[in-house]
Amino acid sequence: MNDEARQALRRLPSVDELLQTPAVRQLLEGNPREQVVEAVREAVARVRERVSSGAFPDTWAAVSEPESLSTATAEILRRWSRPHLRRVVNATGVVVHTNLGRSILAPSAIARVVEVAGAYSNLEYDIDAGVRGSRHDHIDALLSRLTGAEAAMVVNNNAAAVLLTLSVLAAGKEVVVSRGQLVEIGGSFRIPDIMRMSGARLVEVGTTNKTRIGDYEAALTGETALLLRVHTSNFKVVGFTEEASIAEIASLGRRWGLPVADDLGSGALLPLEAFRDEPPASASLQAGADVVMFSGDKLLGGPQAGILVGRAETITRLRQHPLARALRVDKMTLAALEATLQLYRDPERARREIPTLRFLDRRSEETAALAAALRTRLEAAVRAAGLKAEVGIQETAAKAGGGSLPLLEIPSHGVTVRSEVGSVVALETALRAAPVPIVGRVAQDAVVLDVLALDEADLSEVADGVVWALGQAACPPSDTPDCRAHA
Ligand SMILES: *Cc1c(COP(=O)(O)O)cnc(C)c1O
Repeated sequence: MNDEARQALRRLPSVDELLQTPAVRQLLEGNPREQVVEAVREAVARVRERVSSGAFPDTWAAVSEPESLSTATAEILRRWSRPHLRRVVNATGVVVHTNLGRSILAPSAIARVVEVAGAYSNLEYDIDAGVRGSRHDHIDALLSRLTGAEAAMVVNNNAAAVLLTLSVLAAGKEVVVSRGQLVEIGGSFRIPDIMRMSGARLVEVGTTNKTRIGDYEAALTGETALLLRVHTSNFKVVGFTEEASIAEIASLGRRWGLPVADDLGSGALLPLEAFRDEPPASASLQAGADVVMFSGDKLLGGPQAGILVGRAETITRLRQHPLARALRVDKMTLAALEATLQLYRDPERARREIPTLRFLDRRSEETAALAAALRTRLEAAVRAAGLKAEVGIQETAAKAGGGSLPLLEIPSHGVTVRSEVGSVVALETALRAAPVPIVGRVAQDAVVLDVLALDEADLSEVADGVVWALGQAACPPSDTPDCRAHA
């Protein structure tokens, strides 16, 4: 440390001195004292760290001012009191974005969550009989009607549905699966791992690209307990390929008296044009599968959940297993799921009101109009703020996401933003730091904000965020509080 740094450290006000300043005393009015003291300590410690590290010496005097330190303290307190889990703008062009919460709920589903969360409910109570009921009753009839199943149940997510199925139907026994279907979904969910967890033994049949029904049959032994098909949601093997159909597998299961389970992954309930490659649950059940499972928050567009539909006898066994209790869903999930499924009774309404379906079903003209509206708004906001940026529109290839429909490219539109000061990376970073973070994409020299998963009502917020970010990105890297504060 040089003399200059030592002097700067000596000039730093003490925590006690700062606590006496009017600005910090004002913070004491709205925050617990210990919190304010801790925040002041942290603000001072940061300046101390900057000085000790020798970074940005020309800013040392400014950031050591009591005024600057109290601003930093207020900012620290604001960050502590702000929720960590919060909303963001999804301008990525990936509709079911697993990192951004997958599906957003339909308004009717949100209303039902609010109602059930704030009041007692008949979660496990049979109102007519005045006796204990089952939480599965709320969705059983609805799911059965929608898929043609005899019975249904819901667990925490589809990974839990697969774990429960394997544990109940095949623990200590063999499960026959095609080698081409031993998939990994999103990092931590791997079919072979789940199999091990459940206590079932995996028997791989066929090859990576070709598995025939004869391969299944040749693998059957007295130890076989289950035939499992897994939909390879997030990748496609193309070219010289073959997989046994669920009808063939089900017919083999019938002949040998073995149950058949089908993990569909996304589980689309509507025949949307975009869903051509997603096998519907009803088709698997018709083909003879005993139990079919899929996610609630992928292409269904509901809350996180694992949905199991199938034969009454099989579903009853699943419900009675101790794991079912450990994997059960909360009342808020059930409320959201029931309301979402209700919308599916009228396919037109489902398409209109479930955001995931509405976004995936959007025509290119619609995203073009939305992008044009965003561009107009942005240009006006940028001009009004006296900032310099170039705003344009480009065609994009958006994605379904969530490990669904890997090959599908949805023709969409994005608004491009280029700042005339600061780098494109700085702009993208600043967009994520906006009061409502905006997550977009960097493409060459511009940030692209894809509008596929945006609504008209989001546009003014996006414009505000972009203006805020352009101001931030224009600040010099020394991070002077003045520039940030006035941006
Ligand atoms: C996504 C997926 C899962 C896991 O579902 P979650 O709801 O994320 O737990 C399991 N199997 C397949 C085939 C999937 O696509």
